Amino acid sequence: MMSVYYEEILKESEGNCHIQNISGDVTGIVNKSGIKNGIVTVFSIGSTAGITTLEYEPGLLSDIPAMLEKLIPSFANYKHNDTWGDGNGHSHLRSALIKTSLTVPLVNKELVLGTWQQIVFMDFDNRHRTRRIAVQVMGEK
Ligand code: ZN
Repeated sequence: MMSVYYEEILKESEGNCHIQNISGDVTGIVNKSGIKNGIVTVFSIGSTAGITTLEYEPGLLSDIPAMLEKLIPSFANYKHNDTWGDGNGHSHLRSALIKTSLTVPLVNKELVLGTWQQIVFMDFDNRHRTRRIAVQVMGEK
């Protein structure tokens, strides 16, 4: 029978491209759900953050912010900053590029991820804040 389970992860975040490995949190929620086969959606609530997968190691934790700084510099002129004066135009653009959600297949109670593939939450905003990440598990028990 089809089941749906929902829970949120709360993370303290430093902002400014702070990258956190949330694989353990997601796995915990999947285990709690009791669902065996289906899909898991991980979604960042808010338009200045992102969810993707990454090999969570120090080199990439430095390479990713460097790449984003080249593509979408923190201190360029963005029309969004003229609208709100919040200085985080780059944060919204980075979020739109990386995207805010990820779907992972769930097979026999295991997330289908590569050995070096972790689920990461990236915060592009320009300030510290508490973040909410939605996890929805859908499938059969
Ligand atoms: Zn803004």
